[in-house]
Amino acid sequence: MDNILVTGGAGYIGSHTCKQLYKAGYMPVVYDNLATGHEDNVRWGPLVHGDIRDRDQLRHAIKRWQPQCVIHFAASAYVGESTVDPRKYYNNNVAGSLALLDTCVDTNLRNVVFSSSCATYGIPSKLPITEDSPLAPINPYGRTKLIGEMMLQDYVDAYRMRYVALRYFNAAGADLDGELREKHDPETHLIPRALMAAAGRIDMLKVFGDDYETPDGTCIRDYIHVMDLAQAHVSAVEHLLDGGKNMVANLGSGQGASVKQIIDTIERLTHRRVPVQCEPRRAGDPPALYSDVHTATSELKFMPRFSDLETIIRTAAPTFGLEVAHELVA
Ligand code: UDP
Repeated sequence: MDNILVTGGAGYIGSHTCKQLYKAGYMPVVYDNLATGHEDNVRWGPLVHGDIRDRDQLRHAIKRWQPQCVIHFAASAYVGESTVDPRKYYNNNVAGSLALLDTCVDTNLRNVVFSSSCATYGIPSKLPITEDSPLAPINPYGRTKLIGEMMLQDYVDAYRMRYVALRYFNAAGADLDGELREKHDPETHLIPRALMAAAGRIDMLKVFGDDYETPDGTCIRDYIHVMDLAQAHVSAVEHLLDGGKNMVANLGSGQGASVKQIIDTIERLTHRRVPVQCEPRRAGDPPALYSDVHTATSELKFMPRFSDLETIIRTAAPTFGLEVAHELVA
């Protein structure tokens, strides 16, 4: 059984990926400082409690577990926070990635799957977004992810590093078995907050802007089920272990959904009202983002299976104590 080092493996996308890795016959070795991750998400292999900036501990973990590949999720990932506390983002995401990549080079661990983001594109000039669209991030979070990709590119040439960088669109939903769920604190993402509003756990959902130039005036995003994302990471690992080329790929559903469509779907499936309050636009929010996923489809055999809105909402709803009738679901 090959070992795969998973930084940030106790987090939302990381833990779902560990489960899929295990099912595919790999042993995920989670390396996580548990700043935002949860120890009880680590169930499919050992947990090394450590920070990616701690080069000694990283080196020790790599020597001990001899992974064939690293999947690098560990990062700070709140766009809003990155604008008010950018040093945290440069520290965790840039200095942290540098420490990890250097340690990988020093220990001869050459295969890296990197968590990147559609935030690297900024406001796209055309839709859907392809990987060769201009990279012009509009917030520190997106810039730190772009720097991560650039570091990898330079390490390929200089140190024979091999990598797949995956640019995620909006991860959503939860494990179909109900073993894992989305647990962010604070929770800022649309789907969990809309479900919290439907469940009465918050007074209302603030809708950030209803005057965008989109069909219903609200922002359009591309929601991808976390299990589809997780499966794509397994494919990326296999791609590298099979000697595949270095690459960058978008990971999304390829479809856009508006804030209003999300609210309508939640109301239809849960038979609850989502109380809303319209607010001004949120700074740095592009009106519409959705992916072209042909690269992932052709190179990684990526095939989203659970990324329809119904499945996303059905799997996310139980976290907030909401029932969704089965017959309504595809
Ligand atoms: N959004 C909203 N209310 C919220 C959270 C998000 O209207 O409480 C909107 C946000 O403006 C964006 C979309 O929902 O257009 C998705 O936001 P989210 O924070 O989930 O992800 P992002 O696209 O920012 O990564």
